[in-house]
Amino acid sequence: MTGLDALEARLKQDLSFLELPAKNWVPRRTAEGRTVFDVVVVGGGMCGLTASAALILLGISNIIAFDAAPAGREGPWVTFARMRTLRSPKQLTGPALGLPALTFRAYYEAQFGAEAWQSLNKIPRGMWMDYLVWYRRVLDLPVQNGTRVMSIRSFAPDLLELGIAGPDGASSVLARRVVLATGRDGLGGPSVPALTAGLDRRFWAHSAEPIDFTALRGRAVGVVGAGASAMDNAATALEAGAASVDLFIRRADIPRINKFTGIGSPGVVHGFRTLPDEWKWRFLHYVLGQQTPPPRDSTLRVSGHPNGRFHVGSPITRLVQDGDGLIVTTPKGRYRVDFMIFATGFHLDPALRPEFAAFLPHIRLWKDRFTAPAGLDSAELENFPDLGPAFEFQEKQPGACPMLGRIHCFNHHATLSHGKLAGDIPAVSEGAQRLASGIAQLLFTEDQETHYARLQAFDTPELLGDEWTDADATTPV
Ligand SMILES: Cc1cc2nc3c(=O)[nH]c(=O)nc-3n(C[C@H](O)[C@H](O)[C@H](O)COP(=O)(O)OP(=O)(O)OC[C@H]3O[C@@H](n4cnc5c(N)ncnc54)[C@H](O)[C@@H]3O)c2cc1C
Repeated sequence: MTGLDALEARLKQDLSFLELPAKNWVPRRTAEGRTVFDVVVVGGGMCGLTASAALILLGISNIIAFDAAPAGREGPWVTFARMRTLRSPKQLTGPALGLPALTFRAYYEAQFGAEAWQSLNKIPRGMWMDYLVWYRRVLDLPVQNGTRVMSIRSFAPDLLELGIAGPDGASSVLARRVVLATGRDGLGGPSVPALTAGLDRRFWAHSAEPIDFTALRGRAVGVVGAGASAMDNAATALEAGAASVDLFIRRADIPRINKFTGIGSPGVVHGFRTLPDEWKWRFLHYVLGQQTPPPRDSTLRVSGHPNGRFHVGSPITRLVQDGDGLIVTTPKGRYRVDFMIFATGFHLDPALRPEFAAFLPHIRLWKDRFTAPAGLDSAELENFPDLGPAFEFQEKQPGACPMLGRIHCFNHHATLSHGKLAGDIPAVSEGAQRLASGIAQLLFTEDQETHYARLQAFDTPELLGDEWTDADATTPV
């Protein structure tokens, strides 16, 4: 056996040596004659897959993940991501959950050999998606695609009901716990400046939207932002034959140092969660202030085109429609563009997530119990949810929405409570393992009576009674 077949056999053997997955141990539940899932995962992207795998390895196998996207098109990788390669170094073990045969390196070397691995610079974007598709297949993860979770509501004190819209129409499922692996825009969506209000949608898009770059051939394009997505979108437009691309960058300089990644270590991964609140805040406030630089490759991909122009110190102060284009005003001048791409990131916005409407207003946010140190205000951070140890939401007012403790926020918005464990590649396994062990604890505690009854009922003997005799009964006095 060679290639992926051999790797898959090795993975199977590794799992069997480790006695994984553990046998399912969670008592089955039904309610009103309906099946109850122990966990429903919303989202089958990288975090949803890793979380599902971690749960199954711990013997919590009565789960299902739903993803609105078609199979193989979950997340940004082959939809709106426009970089050539991942930013992350190729050797990160990402979703491998401590299993060497599950790493991207093993997957790559099995197909192309060790030498090719040595000469690989960074992971091609599409290949990362291929790897996730493989990961899902070899672990046989229960993901149902083309299925959007439309609502989550309380069904009973200890059960949730999820309204879903799938290939067979609308229906609902019951779950004891729900994991929101809903991505970078986890509890919100794309963020665009107020300047866009009233502008005809023909003239602009957010970088996370589908964009017909062929239609931008010969046109003047503007891009707002200086992050990775700004560069990737600018480069894609230039490569598609845009007449020019003007990048409007608010700051006087483009950030150059990737601070938080720079201090990455197991200490940060495992220690961030238990930092005092003030220190968590300080760390992330500093990281947000410094911002993440765009990758060098992506920046060079833009500057390699003479008609790609960088305008630093250029916040847009006015943006108006003018005939078949837009007039952009910055402190440095006025520019005409035919189309504008806002690479302005994502934000938490309940209005963009109607599926979570039943509980979002009740979530305890950081601002509900924490006052930012003087001079360290942040409208972004104060709206992050204040999560418990298993990524579970907490109530703003105790008793107002008890279902929240059954919903686990395994996405970008967990960052202030847990660190970067639920979004980026570097620590997604540690995040998924923390989530899965937290859920295991909660399920076990909730079922304590059943487990105690099982303990009492267990009657498989280890000793049969013929291994020894009572000395008093056989030895004469
Ligand atoms: C353009 C781009 C490039 C990135 N590059 C890197 C990189 O190089 N290195 C790195 O470490 N990180 C990178 N990241 C950050 C991070 O790794 C990715 O965002 C990654 O996709 C996060 O995985 P996820 O599972 O949290 O989210 P996603 O991959 O976005 O998956 C979320 C899934 O949830 C589904 N979903 C959402 N709501 C619902 C609903 N109501 N019902 C059903 N399904 C739903 C969506 O369809 C989606 O498939 C990048 C992010 C972006 C946006």
